[in-house]
Amino acid sequence: MARTEDGDGSAPPGTFDVVRLVEDLLAGAVAHRASDVHFEPTADGLLVRYRLDGTLQTVEQLPRALAENVISRLKVLGGLLTYRVDIPQEGRIDRRPDAPGRVLDQRLAVFPTLHGQRAVVRIFYDDPELSRLDRLGLPAAILDDLRGCAAGHQGVLLLTGPAGSGKSTTLAALLRHVRDRFPGKSIVALEDPIERHIEGVTQVQIPPHGAMTFPVALRSLLRQDPEVLMIGEIRDAETARIAVEAGLTGHLLLSTLHSGACAGALLRLLEMGVEPYQVTSAVRAVVNQRLVRRLCEQCKRPAGDGRFEAPGCDECFGTGFRGRTLVAEMVRLDGEIRRAILAKADLDTLAAILSARGHMSLRQAGRRLVADGITTGEELDRVCGCDEQEVD
Ligand SMILES: [Zn+2]
Repeated sequence: MARTEDGDGSAPPGTFDVVRLVEDLLAGAVAHRASDVHFEPTADGLLVRYRLDGTLQTVEQLPRALAENVISRLKVLGGLLTYRVDIPQEGRIDRRPDAPGRVLDQRLAVFPTLHGQRAVVRIFYDDPELSRLDRLGLPAAILDDLRGCAAGHQGVLLLTGPAGSGKSTTLAALLRHVRDRFPGKSIVALEDPIERHIEGVTQVQIPPHGAMTFPVALRSLLRQDPEVLMIGEIRDAETARIAVEAGLTGHLLLSTLHSGACAGALLRLLEMGVEPYQVTSAVRAVVNQRLVRRLCEQCKRPAGDGRFEAPGCDECFGTGFRGRTLVAEMVRLDGEIRRAILAKADLDTLAAILSARGHMSLRQAGRRLVADGITTGEELDRVCGCDEQEVD
């Protein structure tokens, strides 16, 4: 789609309707369910890209003459100081109440760069699909296990995976599940930052450099008798220790830990100084997950030899993918795994135990999705490729 400064005829002659252009770009992003819109100044103009299912896709290359006006318009929408072009600024862009697309919030961030100001609009959707545990695409066996853990009165349930693997979406869905299934339970979530509002859950924002750190908030909260606690992420030894103590003393604790594998997450707790007997008595299960893009239902077709392909269409912006689903593996801590951890087993030993008992690894779960034509082998490699050596 090439744009010229003559516009599309709706603006007075000689002026380009920037207001309309920006509105169209943002509406287009929502229509395609982009999570972000990037406005990137380059030497020759302004590159507009949508982040679709985790991947940036160029949608416009605007001429240099328009760049400043587009950014200015965004700043007006976001309530920012248009005359300050030398400092980073952040704001919110309101949407008309009648605009389609179930958007909760649009956050704007503007930053000065070599070629001019760069702007990113982050779009937050009210997605009823993703708010339900049974709609995340988890395999039935894992779903059952997760529900079992969520019904428990104490213990730690950990989610693991790299950044962008959908851990916070699963956590939020778990909290909603507990809230709906066990009304009357006191549920508190500590987050940095709060990503989405969850009705019926007391959410606490932990500022990055404030006096109220995760350990401080957690210690204080435990005296307020919560039954279910969520910690956005266990990042340090002290939080890890308090979280495990909480899980041992009558609280159900849900959290995430940055790691590439279920066994890796357990070992990280040990590295953070949690005693092996505490890990084995507190942790009930670990879920390791990734997000893979789904083949576009609109242009998907059999490619012979049982595989599927999607050449791309208008619906999927020519990418062949539309929407994402979870690939996941889950390890419940049973006798054998507990004994191995108490015996200070390493990652390879734990992986060997899992594999010997027929545990479905992340990659095996992914291969099922490929066989079912939900995603492709290439997509699986892109998302899980580098974890293979670590897991198997
Ligand atoms: Zn398509």
